[in-house]
Amino acid sequence: MNLHEYQAKALFKRFDIPVPGGLLASSVDEVRARVAELGGGKTVIKAQVHAGARGKAGGVKLVNDADEAAAVAEALLGTQLVTIQTGPEGLPVNSVYVEEPSAIARELYLSMLVDRGHECVAIMVSPDGGMDIEKVAEETPERIRTMYIHPAAGLQGYQVRELGFFLGLSGAQIKEFGKILAGLYRIFTDCDASLVEINPLIVTEDDHLLPLDGKLNMDDNALFRQPDIAAQRDESQEEEAERIASKHDLNYVTLEGNIGCMVNGAGLAMATMDLVKLHGGKPANFLDVGGGTTKERVAEAFKLITSTGDVKAILVNIFGGIVRCDLIAEGIIAAVEEVGLKIPVVARLEGTNVERGRELLANSGYNIIPATDLTMAAQTAVKLAAA
Ligand code: GDP
Ligand code: MN
Repeated sequence: MNLHEYQAKALFKRFDIPVPGGLLASSVDEVRARVAELGGGKTVIKAQVHAGARGKAGGVKLVNDADEAAAVAEALLGTQLVTIQTGPEGLPVNSVYVEEPSAIARELYLSMLVDRGHECVAIMVSPDGGMDIEKVAEETPERIRTMYIHPAAGLQGYQVRELGFFLGLSGAQIKEFGKILAGLYRIFTDCDASLVEINPLIVTEDDHLLPLDGKLNMDDNALFRQPDIAAQRDESQEEEAERIASKHDLNYVTLEGNIGCMVNGAGLAMATMDLVKLHGGKPANFLDVGGGTTKERVAEAFKLITSTGDVKAILVNIFGGIVRCDLIAEGIIAAVEEVGLKIPVVARLEGTNVERGRELLANSGYNIIPATDLTMAAQTAVKLAAA
C-alpha cells in the first residue's frame, strides 16, 4: 500500500525527521485559506497522487501568493495527472499539499528498502538527487552508494558517516543525516514500511538537510497490525481491478497477455503461468483465488479476469483439497452464466469429487472444456486464445 506525500511527511515528523511546514487542501477555497495560514506569501502547490515525476508533469508549482495558488489549484484539482510513472489515463488529483517553500542549495537522493537478497533493510544514496534515479543507476552507477543495515546490530554510526562523506556533507549535516536515517529505519521497524524514497533530500541554502519529497510504501501483509496506516489508504489511487480483488480477498495482478488464469494457491498459479508460457501463450493475469474458495469468489474472479484487456480464453486450474470440485464446477457455471461469458473456458479440476465436477462442466451446455491433464489444459487454452 502506498501513502501520499503529505501522509509520508506526517509520519516523518512523528519520527523526529524535520519537514517543511505544509497543509492539505481539497478545494480552491481551502487552498486560499492554507496559504493564509502559512503567512500569505510564497508557497509550493503539490498535487497529491500515488506517483512520482509530478514536477515535470506540472503537478508541482511554486507560487507567489494566494491568487496564484488558487489558479494552480483550480487547474489541478479534479483532473487526472499524467506523469511518466502513471498509465496514460493518469491518476485523479483530489487534493493538493500547500507547502512552505525551501531554498535549495543541493538536491540529494535517499531511499531505504527491504532487500530480499541480503535479508535486511538497505540504504541507497546519491549526490544526484532531483532526477530520475534509474537513469543515474544506468549511466553513472558509481554515483550511487548502497549500505546494508544488519537487523541485529541496527544502524551504525560508521554507516551514517560513510554515506555522509560520500554525499559531501559537513560534520553538522552528517549529524542531521544520522537523525533522518534513524527516523526512517524506525519507520521500517515500527510501521512495517517496505520502501521509502526521498528525492530530493535537499541541502538548504542555510546548510540544513530537509526532505522535500516523500514516497512511502507499506507492507500489505503487515497492515493488520498497523490500523493507523491502513486507515490512510486512498482507493481512488489504485487500479480498479486490483481494488476489487483486494475487497474480495483475491490475489490479483494484471498482466499483458490474453489468457486469463484462475488458480487456487500462489505456487500453483505461478506453475500454471509457466506452463502457459512454455506452450507459447501469454497469461493475462496472475490470480490466486485462495484455499477456501467459494462459489461467490469464483464468480468475482471471473468478472475480474474478463474486465480487463482482451482476454481470449480462460484457464482454470483448481485443486480441490479443502473445497470440493463439484462446488467449484457449480461456481464456474454460475459465473459463466452471470457474466454472460462468450470466450472458451478450459477447466482442469483435481481432487475431492472431481468426477462429479467434470460431469457438471461437460453437461453445462456452455463453452467449458474439462481437462484431466495440466499440460493438455495449457495447450488447449493457448490454441483457443490464438484462434
Ligand atoms: P516529484 O516530481 O513527484 O518527484 O515531486 P517533488 O516533490 O520531488 O518535486 C519536484 C521538484 O520540484 C523538486 O525536485 C524540486 O526541484 C522542486 N521543488 C519542490 N518543492 C520545492 C520548494 O519548496 N522550493 C523549490 N525551489 N523547489 C521545489
Ligand atoms: Mn521527487
